[in-house]
Amino acid sequence: MQSSIPTVQLVRGKAKPFWLGHPWIFPGAIQSISHEPAPGEWVHVVDHQQQSLGYGVFNPHSLYRVRLLTSPYSTTSTLEETLQQHIKAAYHRRQLLSLPSSQTTGYRLINSEGDFLSGLTVDIFAEHAVIAPSAYWVMLQLPLIQAIIQQQFPELTLHVRPTFSALKQDGWHNATSAEHTAAQTIIKENDISYHIALDASQKTGFYLDQRDNRALVQQLARGKRVLDLFCYTGGFALNAAQGGATEVIGIDSSATAIETARANATLNHLDIEFIEDDAFVALEAQKPADFIILDPPKISPSRRDADRALRYQTRLHELALQKLNPGGLLLSCSCSASLPALALARSLQEAACATQQSLTVLTHTRAGLDHPVLPALIETNDYLQAVLLMNER
Ligand code: SAH
Repeated sequence: MQSSIPTVQLVRGKAKPFWLGHPWIFPGAIQSISHEPAPGEWVHVVDHQQQSLGYGVFNPHSLYRVRLLTSPYSTTSTLEETLQQHIKAAYHRRQLLSLPSSQTTGYRLINSEGDFLSGLTVDIFAEHAVIAPSAYWVMLQLPLIQAIIQQQFPELTLHVRPTFSALKQDGWHNATSAEHTAAQTIIKENDISYHIALDASQKTGFYLDQRDNRALVQQLARGKRVLDLFCYTGGFALNAAQGGATEVIGIDSSATAIETARANATLNHLDIEFIEDDAFVALEAQKPADFIILDPPKISPSRRDADRALRYQTRLHELALQKLNPGGLLLSCSCSASLPALALARSLQEAACATQQSLTVLTHTRAGLDHPVLPALIETNDYLQAVLLMNER
């Protein structure tokens, strides 16, 4: 059985990153392939001395020529066994973080490379699991993946929401049946309830990555007038109100997001004003606030756009600082890996200078603990960064 698995041998001197846990093998690192594997096929990777670096999936269409799914030290050698083990281990990691719990029923079960399954993301919304494939091999192996998840979690209803842009880049052009489900559910996150539409167009229906940052807002909002910009379904606004803010206003340009945000406020018996408008326009019209949250959409899909993204962010920072009372808090988030915390801090310095204020960073944070990343991929995969500051005039 084992001998029929194609072997990918690396160029001498190119194996170090893979000993250190990097999962993507680029074409330039490959010396030879025993026989040409089909796209998505399971392959064995060895160094120039035939030492095993692990097993992974081959893709001639992608620069990620092999996505390694096992470590060099792994004892598993089949895809099915590897999937079984990684999915079980991913759930075990969440249990160690007390997820799910009676306060939180929405969480990320599998975070792609961070759970050793490059290209596979799975979010849990109470009794539903949304599988979001972003790699060729995941689409190819979907029936097996679904069967394993269903076997390990018989209580869950499974949905598939492919990330089409990533799949196209990975060479998957087959007409994919995007599931249109009318399914809806209610989840809890830090004891606040949210309506979730499982066929929503944004992400897998909810930005689970902001859970811990929302809790931080709840902790700091007491007695403050709070503006939640780019509020989507109201995550930060609801937490601010729950945390005892005196006034909370949420702003988003999406009518459906605002409609759900209002329904979420009602669901939690919280008093929040939600405004459907462009964030810049609406912010300009606002009275000063004590706490402003900025969580714009991904503006910088690549490093090439980083300059443009930075200018956008600086304009937003300037406007927000003009509206921030002295001693006020600003939480500025970026969900673009090319705009890391350092770039956010630089942009904030520019904005502070333009508005003649001094700023001090209280903390900078990332996605919640159920969004693990590999140490080797901190620079590329740790996309969500948030900086919390206090101002002084
Ligand atoms: N803070 C949210 C997630 C924000 S996602 C949460 O905790 O769930 C980014 C949001 O920005 C989306 O809801 C999108 O509709 C909104 N958006 C995009 N461009 C906008 C603009 N120019 N003005 C206001 N909202 C905008």
